[in-house]
Amino acid sequence: MSTFQELGLNEDLLKGITDLGFETPSEVQEKAIPILLNEEKDLVALAQTGTGKTAAFGFPMLQKIDIDSRTTQGLILSPTRELCLQIANEMKAYGKYCKGLNVVAIYGGSSITDQAREVKRGAQVIVATPGRMKDMISRRLVDITKIQYAVLDEADEMLNMGFKEDITDILSGTPEDKNTWLFSATMPKEVATIAKKFMKSPQEITVGHKNESTDTVSHEYYLVNARDRYQALKRLADANPDIFSVIFCRTKRDTQKVAEQLIEDGYSAGALHGDLSQNQRDIVMKQFRSQQIQMLVATDVAARGIDVDDITHVINYQLSDEIETYTHRSGRTGRAGKTGVSMVIVSKSEVRRLKSIERIINKKFELKEIPNGMEICEVQLMSLANKIHNTEINHEIDKYLEDINALFEDTSKDELIKKFFSVEFTRFFNYYQKSKNLNVVAGDTNRESREPSGNAARYFINVGEKDGFDWMKLKDFLKEVLDLGRDDVFKVDCKETFSFFNTEKEHQEKVLAFFTDFKHEGRFVNVEITEDKPSRGGRGRGNSGGGRRRDGGDRKRSGGADRRSSGGGDRRSSRRSEGSGDNNRSDRRRGSEDRPTRSRRSESGDKDKSAFKTTHSRSGRSRRKD
Ligand code: ADP
Ligand code: MG
Repeated sequence: MSTFQELGLNEDLLKGITDLGFETPSEVQEKAIPILLNEEKDLVALAQTGTGKTAAFGFPMLQKIDIDSRTTQGLILSPTRELCLQIANEMKAYGKYCKGLNVVAIYGGSSITDQAREVKRGAQVIVATPGRMKDMISRRLVDITKIQYAVLDEADEMLNMGFKEDITDILSGTPEDKNTWLFSATMPKEVATIAKKFMKSPQEITVGHKNESTDTVSHEYYLVNARDRYQALKRLADANPDIFSVIFCRTKRDTQKVAEQLIEDGYSAGALHGDLSQNQRDIVMKQFRSQQIQMLVATDVAARGIDVDDITHVINYQLSDEIETYTHRSGRTGRAGKTGVSMVIVSKSEVRRLKSIERIINKKFELKEIPNGMEICEVQLMSLANKIHNTEINHEIDKYLEDINALFEDTSKDELIKKFFSVEFTRFFNYYQKSKNLNVVAGDTNRESREPSGNAARYFINVGEKDGFDWMKLKDFLKEVLDLGRDDVFKVDCKETFSFFNTEKEHQEKVLAFFTDFKHEGRFVNVEITEDKPSRGGRGRGNSGGGRRRDGGDRKRSGGADRRSSGGGDRRSSRRSEGSGDNNRSDRRRGSEDRPTRSRRSESGDKDKSAFKTTHSRSGRSRRKD
């Protein structure tokens, strides 16, 4: 193992490194730094999150640029605003002793003129999101013609988010002879393509195995009925009283809902997603970093790359559409040499997807049982006992001791302990006393299971795969437009041009009323009650008789009304620069957060809950005041 000095870093940087407390280079730093310092070469570096990639490109960049010049020489592109700020701050810390260094972060949602002013003062290094960077270039607010080093950080994620075109445009304005350094956790095809297109025979370094998850993380899954997802989450939290976790949901809406519900139920939780204002996001992140919030419920995009150590658990409340995403999620824990657990709550229909993830992370998931009520009571009780045991005595209490002693004069120590613990225990006990077993026995069916209630309504709807849906997307779509709960829409069966779904009968009126006059992408959506049973066969085949295909007529009505027209281009680009994904395409890679219906809802002034207070951290069921 070498030292930073041996890697060839100069005195100023070494001083900064000492201040940061970095003792030895991480593996990716050890491999990348000498190459980047000594060779004028392109580089592709693959390493998991949390392995120290920022310094791996940051140190060499700072050493190679000419700090006496005020020209912009280094450009770092990164997918989100949070990451941009994080990288810019790190770079400033690395370069603390590099006199005259000016690092500027450029990202959407913040004043472009302020950022332009900072650049104008002479920024040797710019850290930018692709959206805002492109904006600045087209308005001639930055000069990228003298860039010598371009870094694509979290390249996989930037491409996931639809930034390919922006990146292409930006890079095409930079000098031919610059060096491009690409850093990524995973190497999907798209990244390889970009590397091929923009880089000249890059040297490739890999830390650990490609796409492999870190060793410090164990992977578990819990098999439950979809409708029990939230209960399962609560039990996982209760069974881990000292949990400090990120909980991932697929959509902004679910993220918000789960966080609200947790807060309502007395947990210290907060939401992080792209519909919150930046100020709200900053607040919630600050609370999370300081561990005022125990459970951060987040979308993939919003939580991307966030560097908070000590996260004990990552909970996949729902799996993402993209299996690659799992690596990023689980990489939030097990950082800085600590161990962590990545938990996945799945319904039967999703179990299959775990297999694909296992292939990517090259690790097996362990099937675990959701703890039952008594187990949780036990854990909580013992946790409390330990806390009391370890508590330092506050002698302010001494003066009240006489009175307290008098009160307990006739109480034995045994009895006193029992009474004392009952205060906490009874609450849990009452809550969990009649709780049921949430675990589902693994079977061979792939269909989502829902106990037959005999009380369900089944509907026909004239949208299907042709409209870009699959059963999961359609379910999300329906939940969203109908404002229904997590598991109120079930048995969704998506065919080519039409689909079926169920709700409880109680929602029937609402469903039918909603779809009397509803357009999706310019086309009327038609929903009717059907007697149809869900198909047993494969998904691709229709199970209805001839008369049911009524989409043809409606299709004619599709006038090509542009759902985007009301959203406005500005909004789109600002959302995107916040890292909400590229709204522009119907590409299935698009983050599920960006569903067409979102904008419709908010545009129609629907009762979307306004951005919610993220400042809660009241002591919860699982956590007493410390
Ligand atoms: P990545 O970009 O690979 O996800 P980061 O660059 O964000 O990782 O680094 C993760 C954390 O590790 C940061 O808190 C960073 O300050 C710290 N770190 C980086 N390099 C070292 C090192 N050599 N020694 C100690 N800590 C380090
Ligand atoms: Mg990074």
